[in-house]
Order: sequence, then structure tokens, then C-alpha cells
Amino acid sequence: MISVEEAKKLILESTQRLPAILQPVSKCLNHVLAEDVIAPIHYPPFDQSAMDGFAVIHSDFIEKKIPAIIGEAPAGKPFNGIVSTEETVRIFTGAKIPRGSDTVVMQENVLIQEKTIKFNDKPLMQGDNIRRVGSLVKMDDVVLKAGLLLNAGAIGFLSSLGITSVNVFPRPKVSIVVTGDELQKPGTELHDGQIYESNSTMLIAALEAIHVPVQEEVCIGDDPAQTLSTLQSVINRSDIVLISGGVSVGKYDFVASSLLESGVENIFYKIFQKPGKPLFFGKYKECLIFGLPGNPAAALSCFYEYVVMAIKIMQGFSDIFLRKVNHTISTDIKKKAGLALFLKGIIKDTKVEALQGQDSNNIGAFAHADCLIYLPVDKADVKAGELVEVHLLP
Ligand code: AMP
Ligand code: MG
Repeated sequence: MISVEEAKKLILESTQRLPAILQPVSKCLNHVLAEDVIAPIHYPPFDQSAMDGFAVIHSDFIEKKIPAIIGEAPAGKPFNGIVSTEETVRIFTGAKIPRGSDTVVMQENVLIQEKTIKFNDKPLMQGDNIRRVGSLVKMDDVVLKAGLLLNAGAIGFLSSLGITSVNVFPRPKVSIVVTGDELQKPGTELHDGQIYESNSTMLIAALEAIHVPVQEEVCIGDDPAQTLSTLQSVINRSDIVLISGGVSVGKYDFVASSLLESGVENIFYKIFQKPGKPLFFGKYKECLIFGLPGNPAAALSCFYEYVVMAIKIMQGFSDIFLRKVNHTISTDIKKKAGLALFLKGIIKDTKVEALQGQDSNNIGAFAHADCLIYLPVDKADVKAGELVEVHLLP
């Protein structure tokens, strides 16, 4: 039995980033970059008009000339000629600046008369309204650093440079093994002594919230041979195995013994915490195995506090823990000595409230939670108004 802090330290020490993979940019949202990205082109790739207007020679403006309109430059269709003095080309936002011109005058600032333009008195500097080639990005510069979590802006930025794939850390292959003779899938009738199996949909949803798909889900009974053979095959094709139930020390709990028999290294088993005391964490080659308690609220609490961090390490995140904030608690809490406590909470304005129904089998309370309130092992009873550590749920 170890402390919450020791358990997290052991997970940190036992978990490695997955090998990076080359992945299409369009599939990279919420992935962490595994390499620096170097710009293959300048951006903009050419001198570009920032406005709808006229490409002119600035000295014509100074000398109050009346340039003749000799052509048009829409976006994507460059004007092929050369602009000479007393000439102008009508130009549109994003279009290439015609050779010979050095300034764009906004169309609002000229008077179009027949085939000529007349400047008004608004000041105009040489180079106005031109986005210079490479002004945002220079070719061969490092534009994104390894370690960046790619958001929609990053995806767009990579595409703007013509990049179609980048090296990122992949999602881990996660498998779920649910154990319990008493479990019946929703959609079927409950027989005497049965309950509905809710941990698989819950864990799949919790994984989905952090963008991790589940590769497979297996449900097995409380049977030693079936437990052993299932776990042996699943740990050989997964990066992470989440086992629900069967991890305590009851006569029908076969998970821990099957894992050890399969050669899984026991990194820790049991934490001084409530809920989720019987959490098992082990490793087989590079596969991480979490034996989660069967009680749904305990399983979910352990998932957020311990599984999420392992998944984030594998995916190359630098922030691996749930976001921590301190809030004033609005409820008194009685706390047992010798165990750290995780309470389902809800943040209201600047305060956090511990929800009613903290039992480890009460998953309903979690439906309203947006955080876990963490009371470390050495903390005594808490009075309303005290500052507490709060972990925000993803
Ligand atoms: P166990 O950890 O297997 O001893 O299970 C502890 C409690 O959680 C028991 O009351 C089980 O019936 C319940 N339980 C176990 N697995 C599930 C599950 N997948 N869905 C809902 N309840 C479960
Ligand atoms: Mg069970």
C-alpha cells in the first residue's frame, strides 16, 4: 500500500512516450508534435495586396499624376505586364503585386474617371497595403517547436505552408476488460442478482473526452481460466489495458493473480485513498495495466487521477496532470485519518461544493461533477470556507 503521491511518481517513472508516427495534418488535432517544423516556403509566398484597390508607383502619387488603368489582377490570376509611370492595375485582396508597382492605394481613396484614377489627399506611403513575401514566415525557419499540442490554428498554419503530414505522438491502443458474473449489458433483461454493466460505456466516454479511441472491449465472467487467457492475449496487443473489477481480494477476484501469473510486473497494488483503494498498476513489456475497482465511481475517479496522466505521457504531453486550482469549499467534510480523499465536486462561481452521494458505487453523483476535490492524507476534517485543492475534469 502506497500514497497517492508515490503512486503518481511510479506511473511517471514507468511510462514512456510512444514512438512518433508520420500522420496526415488533417488527422493531427490534439496530437503533440514530435519534431520541430521547418517552413518549406515563404509566407506569403509572393508580394500580395492586402486590400482591394490599385497597384501604383508611389512617385505618381507624390507628383499628383493621373495613372491610366492598364489591367486587372484578381487573386490567383497575376497581371503579367509591367506597370510603368502613369499606369495602374486594378488589384484585389490576396492578388500578386504586378511588377513595376510598389504601393497599393485603397479603392476608397481614388476617384475612378473613365480609364484613369485620381488620388485624393489621404496620405499614402510607399509600400502601403502590400504584404511582403516572407513577412510572416521565412523559408527554412523553425515555425513550430516539438512538444506543441496541435489545435485548429496549428492545423491551418501547417496547411498554409503546404505541409501535408508531420511527426506526432500517436494515441495509445487502449483495451478495456470488464469482469463480473453479475453484469448484464443494458438493453437486456436483468435477472435475479444482476446489475447493469456501466463501466465500459463510462470508460469509453471518458477516453473519448480526451480524444482516445478504444481498440477493443471484452467482458468476461469471474472465472480464473478465462481471466488468465483474456488478459494474456489483450496485454500483448495493447499499450494500455484497463481492467474493471475483480481486483480486490475476494474469493472471486482473479485479476491480480492472473496478471502476476502472466508475467506482469506489479508496480503498485493498493493506495491509501478513498475511493479506489485496491487500484493495481503493472507493466508487461511496454504495456501498462490498470486494475480499476469495479465500483463505478471509484473506477472513474482512478481513471481521472492515474490513467489520464499515463495516457498523456504516452502522447508526449508536457502537462500530464488534471488542471489544479485552489477554491474555497462551501461544505464541511468529515475525513477519515490515514486515507487521502477524492470528492466529486462542482464549481459554482469561486467556490467548490462537494456533491451529495460520495459512495464509490454512486456513479449518479459524478453526472453533476466537474472536478475532484483532493484532500491529502494528512489533512484533517475540513470546514466550509477553507481553501482546498481542486482537480478539473477533462
Ligand atoms: P469488484 O471490484 O469486482 O469487487 O466490484 C465491486 C462492485 O462494483 C460490485 O458491486 C460490482 O457489482 C460492481 N461492478 C463491478 N463491475 C461493474 C461494472 N462494469 N459496471 C457496474 N458495476 C460494476
Ligand atoms: Mg467483481
